[in-house]
Amino acid sequence: MVTEVIPAEDLKKVDPVFGQISFDDHEQIVFCNDKDTGLRAIIGIHSTVLGPALGGTRMWSYANEWEALNDVLRLSRGMTFKSAITGLNLGGGKAVIIGDAKTQKTPELMKRFGEFVHSLSGKYITAEDVGMKTEDMDLVREVTPYVTGISESKGGAGNPSPITAYGVFMGMKAAAKYKFGSDILEDKSVYVQGIGNVGEGLVEHLVNEGAQVTISDISQDRLEEVRSKYGVTIYGGNDIYSEPMDIYAPCALGATINDNTIHKLKAKIIAGAANNQLENENVHGPILQERGIVYAPDFLINAGGIINVYAELENYDRQEIMRKTENIYNTTLEILDNAKANKITTHAAALNIAKERIATRKRENIK
Ligand code: NAD
Repeated sequence: MVTEVIPAEDLKKVDPVFGQISFDDHEQIVFCNDKDTGLRAIIGIHSTVLGPALGGTRMWSYANEWEALNDVLRLSRGMTFKSAITGLNLGGGKAVIIGDAKTQKTPELMKRFGEFVHSLSGKYITAEDVGMKTEDMDLVREVTPYVTGISESKGGAGNPSPITAYGVFMGMKAAAKYKFGSDILEDKSVYVQGIGNVGEGLVEHLVNEGAQVTISDISQDRLEEVRSKYGVTIYGGNDIYSEPMDIYAPCALGATINDNTIHKLKAKIIAGAANNQLENENVHGPILQERGIVYAPDFLINAGGIINVYAELENYDRQEIMRKTENIYNTTLEILDNAKANKITTHAAALNIAKERIATRKRENIK
């Protein structure tokens, strides 16, 4: 899942790694290759200031290695700020495996990948992302302890998606409180784009609250399944961005807020689960701000999943997971107020707080 489309020719003009557009003073980038299993992976460690770099592994059929590198750099950076703003003692990392998860993923490949993770001695801790399942993490667990998101039967916290969905719902409610003066979503029109693991969970919360939910997905089977379960409307048009709506919830791909979509958007709030929703945070954040569209920063409101896997490391219980996830509501409201007071974008406000926490820890570590 590539989050920023950069022409391959442009990518090649810069230095291969440190000169990449998405390189942001990453601490370490590890290229993993194993001919026998066909494994080709990249582990990106953006920061370990707050703790070990934790972030999922994504398996995706990237068009080329540049795309894979760009993706891992962006995603690992995002993890640093996600954990920092959520108050977790974790750094930011992520891994990508180049290949088709449906046809190229084998137990041998997953275990070999686990060995590479193990070779980093805990500096990077992996988990699931797109193309990965709990069972894949169970395989990784056979060769390294540096993995989370394993099955509940094996002592893990299980599927993080319902917790992520709850956190997104909390962030959305906070944005509604800020924009409309009430966090009750009854009768608000909400478009959920992508009704996978997280999207469906979000639909359930919204329906329970009486929101008018419209869903879109590239999978017709999923659409029918979710409609019959929750009685929601399937989007029938071909340009979701132009539709009048109260809330747009991107829960599929990243970078859907881009030059082609941003001026069409009629939503009053953007709040969803997808990572890196703004194609370019420096360009598209300010345009949303000017247009008065409230953007609930993705890395803040989709942190439920990382809170869930962090529980495996810290041994805290379900109640604590829910308390921390519910707190996304308060943090989102604080960020939105902070952005308004300082006349900056909501993304920048969230980033500033995360960066300040990292800088403080860095100073403490030096003492
Ligand atoms: P998923 O793979 O289960 O679901 C994604 C859904 O989006 C699928 O149903 C797919 O068919 C659909 N989709 C793909 N392209 C689409 C398009 N162009 N238009 C509409 N629908 C499209 O993934 P998920 O676990 O539900 O995660 C959703 C997003 O949230 C991802 O971007 C992921 O990185 C992010 N996220 C997930 C978690 C988590 O706990 N699962 C945590 C944080 C962030």
